[in-house]
Amino acid sequence: MDKKCFCNKKKIKLRLAKDFTENVIDILYCPDCLDQAGPETLVVNVLRDKNNIGLWGIRFNKIVLKDQDPEEYIDKYLYFAGVFIMQKCIFDFLPKDVKIRSPYRILGYKGDVPEGYENITGPDFLLMANGKPIKFPKKTRSGPLESYKKASGDF
Ligand SMILES: [Zn+2]
Repeated sequence: MDKKCFCNKKKIKLRLAKDFTENVIDILYCPDCLDQAGPETLVVNVLRDKNNIGLWGIRFNKIVLKDQDPEEYIDKYLYFAGVFIMQKCIFDFLPKDVKIRSPYRILGYKGDVPEGYENITGPDFLLMANGKPIKFPKKTRSGPLESYKKASGDF
């Protein structure tokens, strides 16, 4: 299942849940075209895949998701982030098993990503905004779920 990004520069393979098709993603944004995405685009920071490092955006197709995931679907940020985190629809280049540190972080909706956010990569990254580390509440700092606390109040 391949999906082309909005600017057509990247074509990536998706790993999908059994009942899902690539149509659950309405628009995919690569690091080069994310700036053209709307505020309700889920932003994923890929940290450790050398060909694909950077900020990616996913705009899910709600109608298709509702149809293909009728039991679980809810029209909330937490659900959409969960689709990615639970690997129901995830970039295939990301590993299935995460050992110590997640190779990506979900930053939230594009409209909620702190202004001045810098894409930080490498093993000892910190999330930065305006030159300062972004402080997340401690108990949420253990993986991709941490950004749940950071996003809008939509859950
Ligand atoms: Zn692109």
